[in-house]
Amino acid sequence: MDPLDRLGRPLHDLRISVTDRCNFRCTYCMPKEIFGRDYAFLPRDQVLSFEEIERAARAFVALGVEKLRITGGEPLVRRDLPHLIAQLATLRTPTGGELDLTLTTNGAALRALAQPLAEAGLRRVTVSLDSLDDAVFGAMNGIDFPVARVLDGIDAALEAGLTPVKINMVVRRGVNEDSVVPMARWARETGVILRFIEYMDVGHSNGWRLDEVVPAADLVESISGVWPVEPIDAGYRGEVAGRWRYLDGLGEFGIISSVTRPFCRDCTRARLSADGQLYTCLFAVTGRDVRAVLRDGSSDEELVAFLADTWRARDDRYSELRAASTSDLPKIEMFAMGG
Ligand code: SAM
Repeated sequence: MDPLDRLGRPLHDLRISVTDRCNFRCTYCMPKEIFGRDYAFLPRDQVLSFEEIERAARAFVALGVEKLRITGGEPLVRRDLPHLIAQLATLRTPTGGELDLTLTTNGAALRALAQPLAEAGLRRVTVSLDSLDDAVFGAMNGIDFPVARVLDGIDAALEAGLTPVKINMVVRRGVNEDSVVPMARWARETGVILRFIEYMDVGHSNGWRLDEVVPAADLVESISGVWPVEPIDAGYRGEVAGRWRYLDGLGEFGIISSVTRPFCRDCTRARLSADGQLYTCLFAVTGRDVRAVLRDGSSDEELVAFLADTWRARDDRYSELRAASTSDLPKIEMFAMGG
């Protein structure tokens, strides 16, 4: 029984945040002025245990979820993460198929964890990297974390077979636009798949402004001025990145253009936060309390019914409705919901 939401969209992808903590302080996500030493992250008893996450994921898979992405905060700071991956890797779709099990990380701890994660059953990773220039990247990640260590983490992922490795680069006007072409050149040479992300108005801490968004069309123009490209059709319904191929055959890149080309109509994604709230849109204001259902003695059938009801009631399409006025609405920070 695969539920459809009120706009006829199925539930195929689940993002699971395993922590609201992060070892970076990216200016556009968790600026250090706000998320300093005194910031109160979730206490441990409010965070879902691995057993609770696995049980929830199993219920989602019964409803049609085929892709699980582990995220955060920074997922690699959650202790014993390979244990969770091993638990999730045993899940099968109702027809017996394996899940697409992946993870998004800043890469800082990948050198140590890529191999154990691969052995536990992780299929592939997405690594966030906003520039190859240490001054630009260090300022954006808020802690002067060096590019070389992320590149080493990416090498570790490639060596461990966590492929294809995708790279997320948030582009912010006046901050890292000059890094776009060097990043594209590096991705072409390395064989990783680069995806540019339009800077989004998630949360409130980043003081988002529309004029800081570099539209997808500008990104394509910058790159095609160096290497000619052509668009590729979406691989599947719910693929959020528009894709372009280099005409010289040296790979492709994607753009996640939530601001200038919203993809709400094809959004098949739900998010489970570290404290067990279910959000049906990245820009949602309220979630549904899955943790309460996991902890109140409900049966697995009752859990599945709760999730199905939530999905059937879904009518979110924030990015289509986005306007200057909506950026002031109350919103949940991305690290708290799960990026
Ligand atoms: N810590 C992990 C990481 O760095 O990939 C996972 C969580 S992070 C919130 C997930 C992704 O969201 C990262 O690629 C990050 O760059 C992106 N992100 C965070 N805030 C954003 C914003 N305001 N606009 C666009 N992307 C954003």
